[in-house]
Amino acid sequence: MTVDLRQELARRLRIPQQSIRRDEPLAPHTSIGVGGPADYYIAPQDAATIHALPAVCRDLGLPLTVFGYGTNLVIADSGLRGVVLQIDRNSADIRLLAPDDPLLALLRERGRGGHAAAAPGAAWLLASSGTALGQLAHFAQRRSLTGLEAAHGIPGSVGGAVYMNAGAYGFQMADVVVMSRALEMATGEVRARFGAEHGFDYRRSCYADSGDIILDVLICLSSGAQDEILMRMRDFNERRRASQPLDLPSAGSVFKRPTGHYAGKLIAEAGLQGTRVGDAEVSTKHAGFIVNRGRASAEDVRALVMQIQQTVDRLFGVWLTPEVRFLGWAEENGGIPGAR
Ligand SMILES: Cc1cc2nc3c(=O)[nH]c(=O)nc-3n(C[C@H](O)[C@H](O)[C@H](O)COP(=O)(O)OP(=O)(O)OC[C@H]3O[C@@H](n4cnc5c(N)ncnc54)[C@H](O)[C@@H]3O)c2cc1C
Repeated sequence: MTVDLRQELARRLRIPQQSIRRDEPLAPHTSIGVGGPADYYIAPQDAATIHALPAVCRDLGLPLTVFGYGTNLVIADSGLRGVVLQIDRNSADIRLLAPDDPLLALLRERGRGGHAAAAPGAAWLLASSGTALGQLAHFAQRRSLTGLEAAHGIPGSVGGAVYMNAGAYGFQMADVVVMSRALEMATGEVRARFGAEHGFDYRRSCYADSGDIILDVLICLSSGAQDEILMRMRDFNERRRASQPLDLPSAGSVFKRPTGHYAGKLIAEAGLQGTRVGDAEVSTKHAGFIVNRGRASAEDVRALVMQIQQTVDRLFGVWLTPEVRFLGWAEENGGIPGAR
């Protein structure tokens, strides 16, 4: 007898079958708008489903892939096998912790408050992983808390931002993250990580190795002048609007910054702006972005990335490593060569 996996997933997760979508196209769930379907797609509203998923998927032999807002992803045209869990805006939640919050007592007890713990006016925000970074930055600004101004324009979720150690204009998530809690894929247990345990590096954290599901994040900010915070946020956003192709679908900067260079500058100097493979195009506004001119496929994007790598290497002897994550190809990262 063949098992109806959707039915079985729903039964084990104790959720209605309709909340699990079969063969769900993933392109609309990503900012660049490419990619095939997920066998099963779930965007749960409740913590219980997220907590149950790793064990249920393991028992049913289904791979599990976690999405935040899909703003740093290129999904293969063949899609993703198994279950895609998207932790989206529906699970957004932010709390300003009171000084006597047990979580802060725990931080103090363990001496893990970080440098800002002792600073006068320090404040702690606990944000669920599905919260938008922009929403978190606004929340902080309205409470005269500084530290997230440059994060405001990054279009991802808090979970995705911690995973990627997202950053801009000299800021990175590592500057403000004090603790995160994640569901370990292997054990199903919730594990807290503090400060340096995140293994933050340029556009990287320990979560790239562990694959754990980030549940929430504790952020430490300092007090500041509300109007100045707002001005800084506006200034950063203005700079983004002036330099980035925000009117077209993309996954942000495609490549990491190579030591001593800027990826966009090298790509522009190589004369690659406007170069196309199918509907994937090197942006004419910001050479570090690949935009989807309409009907680009994931394969178009992948081919263009490799063409850029080869051209820049040939002309300048610099190998560009993708920052964007390519998922769903048989080879790791779509077979796109990483750092050399
Ligand atoms: C127009 C534009 C501008 C951008 N500007 C910037 C910028 O200035 N700086 C910058 O750093 N990035 C930028 N990005 C890229 C992107 O927004 C960031 O990398 C962001 O942090 C990704 O968050 P996300 O929620 O979309 O994650 P996704 O793209 O959904 O996922 C990224 C990775 O994180 C993992 N992940 C996501 N959520 C979780 C979770 N809860 N638990 C475990 N793993 C998880 C996924 O498995 C995946 O491997 C930009 C993108 C666009 C489209």
